[in-house]
Amino acid sequence: GSTIGILGGGQLGRMMALSARNMGYRISVLEPQKDSPCGQVADHEVVAAYDDKQGAEDLSCDVLTYEFENISAETADHLASSLHFPQGSKLLLISQDRLREKEAIESYGLPVAPYKKVESDTDLADAVSALGLPLVVKTTRGGYDGKGQLVINKGDEVSVRELEDNGPFVAEQWIPFDCEVSVIVTRSVSGETATFPVAENIHRNGILHQSIVPARVSDEVQERARKAALTLAESVSLVGTLAVEMFVRDGEIVINEIAPRPHNSGHYTMNACATSQFEQHIRAICDWPLGETTLLTPTVMVNLIGDEVERAVEMRKELGSAAHVHIYGKKEARPGRKMGHVNVLTSDVEATLEQLNVLEEAKS
Ligand code: ATP
Ligand code: MG
Ligand code: MG
Repeated sequence: GSTIGILGGGQLGRMMALSARNMGYRISVLEPQKDSPCGQVADHEVVAAYDDKQGAEDLSCDVLTYEFENISAETADHLASSLHFPQGSKLLLISQDRLREKEAIESYGLPVAPYKKVESDTDLADAVSALGLPLVVKTTRGGYDGKGQLVINKGDEVSVRELEDNGPFVAEQWIPFDCEVSVIVTRSVSGETATFPVAENIHRNGILHQSIVPARVSDEVQERARKAALTLAESVSLVGTLAVEMFVRDGEIVINEIAPRPHNSGHYTMNACATSQFEQHIRAICDWPLGETTLLTPTVMVNLIGDEVERAVEMRKELGSAAHVHIYGKKEARPGRKMGHVNVLTSDVEATLEQLNVLEEAKS
């Protein structure tokens, strides 16, 4: 069969690989760390830095994709010169840089939080005057799970010093949202599009804690969210998968950020939809027809962060076979590290949330 090459060996690569193997593909992965979550399930593991051109050349494959959007565009372009890379590097370039990302989203006619580019404390003071407080300053590159962000409230020191980064930064108005939602949209090489049901996302310390599907917002808001995701997909001529994170406020949506790949908030699809986001991604880049995205049953996805991974067995005991456990095979359960997740299928979301609450309180 043909081989799919994956740049990046984390859990997203692992779950892509597992789906792709079920679809008959072989997997080759490029990742600097040996025995990575994806490396463990791949047929071939190339251990090399992403920008090591020689290492990258060892990644022989028929179709190239990525699970990690901070691959340098040069590396991606270099690989694309000899390998088939249907996604291309355009969306990588946009989503690697928060400023470029916001400019692009606005240019497609979609709303983002009011923002300003910040390169110094003087710029930040200007941003405070223009945007008001509170606001959040984010590094333009490399941030994830709320890392590289600083919230500035009334009375706080107005300085980017704490971020320990040379910038540039982006200062964003704080959006007092009613809730956060996301949509996973997929577009195939042939231009077929599909969206998965809207997920409602609950963050803790900047890290996704739970996704609740269906999102507890009106049909109107769901339709707006879905349309925004489709607009983005068409505007960037998406190939593959795009996750769109949004704030919901007074029935309106504001785009927070995008990720050009399967996303944590789409993990529920693995057990709750006829097609998972990972299978859909592989279908899209290999130009299969896209799969059905209907929600088969309401679901609560719970992340297992750091030592919470030890709770998986207990959750399985308490919640029974409705709890589908996925563990990523990471060696060390460092604090804040995503170790796995549980998809709890349910006919009563509120009761399940309460059950999860009780479980958590019993532990702490
Ligand atoms: P991810 O791991 O999703 O890539 P990230 O580090 O890129 O996260 P963001 O999504 O920008 O970070 O922010 C993390 C969370 O912080 C958001 O989901 C939201 O809860 C909160 N947040 C970020 N920006 C704002 C804002 N302008 N107004 C209100 N809340 C915000
Ligand atoms: Mg992000
Ligand atoms: Mg985010």
